[in-house]
Amino acid sequence: MRFTRQATAALLALLTLPACAPSDGAAATPAASGKGTPAPVADAGAGAPGIGDADFPLDGNGGYDVGHYDVTIGYTPATKHLDGVTTIDATATQPLSRFNLDLRGLEVSEVTVDGAKAGFDRRRDELVITPATALAKGARFTVKVTYAGEPKPVKDPSNLGTYGFIPTTDGAFVASEPSGSKTWFPNNDHPADKATFDFRITVPRGLTALANGELTGKTAAPGGRTTFTWRETHPMVTYLATATLGKFELRQGRTAGGIPNLAAVDPAYHDALGKLYRVSGEVTDYWSKVFGPYPFSATGGVVDNFSAGYALENQTKPMYGGFDPDTSIIAHELAHQWFGDSVSIERWKDLWLNEGFATYAEWLWSEHTGGATAEAMFRRQYAAKNDPIWKYPPGRAKPGDLFNQSVYRRGAMTLQVLRRAVGDETFFKLLRTWVADHKYGNATTPEFIALAERLSGKQLDTLFDAWLFQPSRPEV
Ligand SMILES: [Zn+2]
Repeated sequence: MRFTRQATAALLALLTLPACAPSDGAAATPAASGKGTPAPVADAGAGAPGIGDADFPLDGNGGYDVGHYDVTIGYTPATKHLDGVTTIDATATQPLSRFNLDLRGLEVSEVTVDGAKAGFDRRRDELVITPATALAKGARFTVKVTYAGEPKPVKDPSNLGTYGFIPTTDGAFVASEPSGSKTWFPNNDHPADKATFDFRITVPRGLTALANGELTGKTAAPGGRTTFTWRETHPMVTYLATATLGKFELRQGRTAGGIPNLAAVDPAYHDALGKLYRVSGEVTDYWSKVFGPYPFSATGGVVDNFSAGYALENQTKPMYGGFDPDTSIIAHELAHQWFGDSVSIERWKDLWLNEGFATYAEWLWSEHTGGATAEAMFRRQYAAKNDPIWKYPPGRAKPGDLFNQSVYRRGAMTLQVLRRAVGDETFFKLLRTWVADHKYGNATTPEFIALAERLSGKQLDTLFDAWLFQPSRPEV
């Protein structure tokens, strides 16, 4: 994710208010996703209502691991009505007499587990499911949830803005980081549980539905509608799922390196289409050389007419919310395909592994294209002695202020300091080894530090501690 300059200025203005100052060491504000009272303590055999991320106690769920989602939705922009059926293939990691999915709003009409009707209950954003027969540890099971209603995005003006399933004048802009995918389908809403996806999205004729991965079909549906089917065969975190739909102009082809490339723009951004397509292709091919082979089967980008004030790195389909992206932000979102999408965080506190790396990629792109070098970018940032980033250690993203500038810029600076310490050859080998070792999986900051030490043969604890974990400006 990256905020546009305008939005960043607005956020910075907000953050100067004492109540939400991010960097004064005050206790963290409540979780960004607005969780309230936790569900009652789980009884024996009940899956936990959270996946175990202490900063976001109700995000995700315990007791099972999702392998695949089949998300079928019909959406009518004129009425903002969504009909949905989500089928989830999962494996029980403990005996389960009941378990939770995350779902916010929307009306559930039926839940089945392995084809048998199951009991269900709603507790805030938790859908509590009681299968007719308890599941054994290791059992593979299928849960099917039928639901409908008007999706409501999450609105969090002090931190992230609006995210989730966001209605637009002609459809919907769907960008869900960190926990907004529960606004449009039931799921295990935390990056620690990755899964493959099929999407079947039915919209009024003339509209286009864009989801992750590859388009596998476009067929006429009853009522003068069109069904788009998309398949993401590589594991994906829930916040990267999209079903952005509306009027779009498309340009399709392949990058010079042979990767299928799809650019889509709302007609209001007609003039942005050519550049979006071309630059997305160039950046994808260049990162494939720097970071290692492109991890997915398609690349591209989507500009929609919702002024989100940010871009999000939706897997294979970065979304730009209401602006014509410059090259730097395209470089950022496409670097996330390696850092964040293929290699995903296990806990939100490690978010610098996504944002610090993607910001550093902006500096690498500048260096590559004859602009300021990464070292020059570093020096410029380091010179600002009173920058609030020095009080916010980026290696520990705060739940009430996840997307703090420090996680981005001081995270990127950490990588430049590391590059100086280990040299270019080891540094770029480290980036490639990191993405190869954790491809399609999850990873943590201690794992990155350990790999950096192993490949460089150097003791780097002091460097990482000063740059990632101390609330002060490190000496260089
Ligand atoms: Zn980002």
